[in-house]
Amino acid sequence: MSEKKLPFSEELVREIAAVYGTPFHLYDEKGISDNVKRLQKAFSWSSDFHEYFAVKATPNPWIMKSLKKLGVGADCSSMAELILAETVGITGEEIVFSSNDTPDEEFLKAHELGAIINLDDISNLDDMERLHLVPKRICFRYNPGPDLARGNAIIGTPQEAKYGMTREQLLKCVAWAKNKGIGYIGIHTMVISAELELPGLLGTISMMFDLANEIRNTHGVTVSFIDFGGGIGIPYRPEQEPVDLEGLGEGAKKLFEEKMRGFENTRICFECGRMITGPYGYLVTKAIHYKNIYRDYIGVDACMADLMRPGIYGAYHHVSVLGKGNLPKNKIYDVVGSLCENSDKFAIQRELPEIEMGDLIIIHDTGAHGHSMGYNYNGRLRHQEIMVHEDGTVQQIRRNETLHDLFATLTYPELHENVDKLEK
Ligand SMILES: *Cc1c(COP(=O)(O)O)cnc(C)c1O
Repeated sequence: MSEKKLPFSEELVREIAAVYGTPFHLYDEKGISDNVKRLQKAFSWSSDFHEYFAVKATPNPWIMKSLKKLGVGADCSSMAELILAETVGITGEEIVFSSNDTPDEEFLKAHELGAIINLDDISNLDDMERLHLVPKRICFRYNPGPDLARGNAIIGTPQEAKYGMTREQLLKCVAWAKNKGIGYIGIHTMVISAELELPGLLGTISMMFDLANEIRNTHGVTVSFIDFGGGIGIPYRPEQEPVDLEGLGEGAKKLFEEKMRGFENTRICFECGRMITGPYGYLVTKAIHYKNIYRDYIGVDACMADLMRPGIYGAYHHVSVLGKGNLPKNKIYDVVGSLCENSDKFAIQRELPEIEMGDLIIIHDTGAHGHSMGYNYNGRLRHQEIMVHEDGTVQQIRRNETLHDLFATLTYPELHENVDKLEK
């Protein structure tokens, strides 16, 4: 099996570990930036192509700020994500606010920021009326239900998904928006996730182009905005290939030319998260325990608090041992964290070179849904994030959590006194 490469030198990773301690999430700004430019280039045939970064993937303002420089907006789904966007200066039509079961205050904040407000359900029209909200820019989320033949493991088949509205409901929403005089009406969907093949991705694009035409034919409205959602996958396994972005752009161009005459000013967009940052983040952790019972275990200093995907989805993340890429993989290990949960395993029965205590273990493709999904079960703390900038400088962009952070909401003063004593 081929080996995944690290974009940093071994010395740099060791130096960062020595300065900041382990574990840490390490982000490659140049990798992120080159990839975004590739996506933008693949769609440069469009007069108005846009990527909105799904903030939930890596909700760090430094990452968002770096993406903003490339013209990437923000796809927000909560108050926290709206505030992050606002803070780095992403506002107005650079934000898509896509949420469901939405609290009033989030609609109001999104409106205040001038975001494109993406309604998940027809009942949200009542919310708009009740809140006296007439958004400047509105969008409606489509769920094709059984009309979409293919499903996907993470999102499930559309008719089982809680998101979006039926075609009939969506057309009613368009009529409402037209009647309100809203000049900017968009359509949105998100029906696939972690997709590596073009047919599924192009199928979504084709479906949305058809919907745009139906809206024009039935309501005389030319949508200003078509959002294909996220869902572009990444090759977690070394034998997988990344999505052919150039092929995707070409395929989309063909569909556009075929179906979209008169939509030349319509913004088309993705709101990808995973493919933007996923492959360019690494969880670097240290081997601290070896245990031999019925299997061989390597205990590391990171745990599910830092990366949940293997534990909750059984997701594969490639593991390598720093400086041992050329050694034979003649050992079989479970690489585990310290949670009292047997699912707290980064790798199960994985062929790896012999690991010694103190070795630095690299867990690959953790740049999306890595730190952001972490949780504090067992009182485990989430760890720092470090970015290697395009110019090579290293910056800690999030510090380690402390016990004070963990206990901040507990109304028991002696607890904080004891933490103070511990830290002395
Ligand atoms: C999660 C999500 C995305 C991003 O999906 P990726 O698979 O990370 O690209 C985009 N839009 C919505 C509405 C989402 O919930």
